[in-house]
Amino acid sequence: TGRLRGKTVVMTACGQGIGRAAAIACAGEGARVIATDVNTELLRGLQGMETARLDVTDPAAILAFAAEVDGIDALFNVAGFVHHGSILELTDADWDAAFTLNVTSMMRMTRAFLPGMLARAEATGTAAILNMASMASSIKGFPNRTAYGATKAAVIGLTKAVAADYVRQGLRVNAICPGTVDTPSLRGRIAAQADPAQAERDFIARQPMGRLATVDDITPLVVYLLSDESRYVTGQAMLVDGGATI
Ligand code: NAD
Repeated sequence: TGRLRGKTVVMTACGQGIGRAAAIACAGEGARVIATDVNTELLRGLQGMETARLDVTDPAAILAFAAEVDGIDALFNVAGFVHHGSILELTDADWDAAFTLNVTSMMRMTRAFLPGMLARAEATGTAAILNMASMASSIKGFPNRTAYGATKAAVIGLTKAVAADYVRQGLRVNAICPGTVDTPSLRGRIAAQADPAQAERDFIARQPMGRLATVDDITPLVVYLLSDESRYVTGQAMLVDGGATI
């Protein structure tokens, strides 16, 4: 405990899944956590942290939120959606929606919070941004992940470009790339298939370790990358995938 003591961390998509677990883990490590989600019902029950509604697809809401909070040491951009389908099933609207939620939101959050975080880095010597990518990205292709894989590859590119621009100013920018994580949306993707039992077996089979990740398999990497323990790490896309990309 105490690995994030003294740090203020803003996170998106904390209502459920990895974001929620990460918010709890960071609060447990002593951070002041500002946990946001578009769905405020889902934020209820989060203890020991501040919560706020934030729709990351709303540029005005992002600017208003960034103007409200200061002294931010770390930002974790989590919000994203898995669009299912091959390129022949993909509409322009699906593609645009995927990029708006998965990529443009992270660009806007970063742009809005960056001036404050650079000021903070000047004062304290360090600030960290973490972006949620995926093993399904530039790292590996998966069936029916055309829009998703393209957006998560873009997240890695955004991460590296911003890391390169601010590496001399104390700001570190990294991405995490989980394998298949047991979260409410994954359960939804399994249930949506014609044969859910087979779909679950197929998702498990992607990981040579023979099981899905739990959110608790992912949060230690989040804490590490948001803390000063990773002070020499920037511009990286780190995998935590049960061996899927060995
Ligand atoms: P989830 O998909 O179950 O939950 C997503 C959360 O995002 C919900 O609380 C939802 O209310 C919130 N959200 C949706 N739209 C939003 C918006 N416009 N603004 C703010 N919040 C919004 O959670 P998850 O499966 O842990 O996924 C979280 C992130 O992790 C996503 O970026 C996803 O692509 C990524 N990821 C997930 C897996 C996995 O297998 N579950 C693997 C790799 C990466």
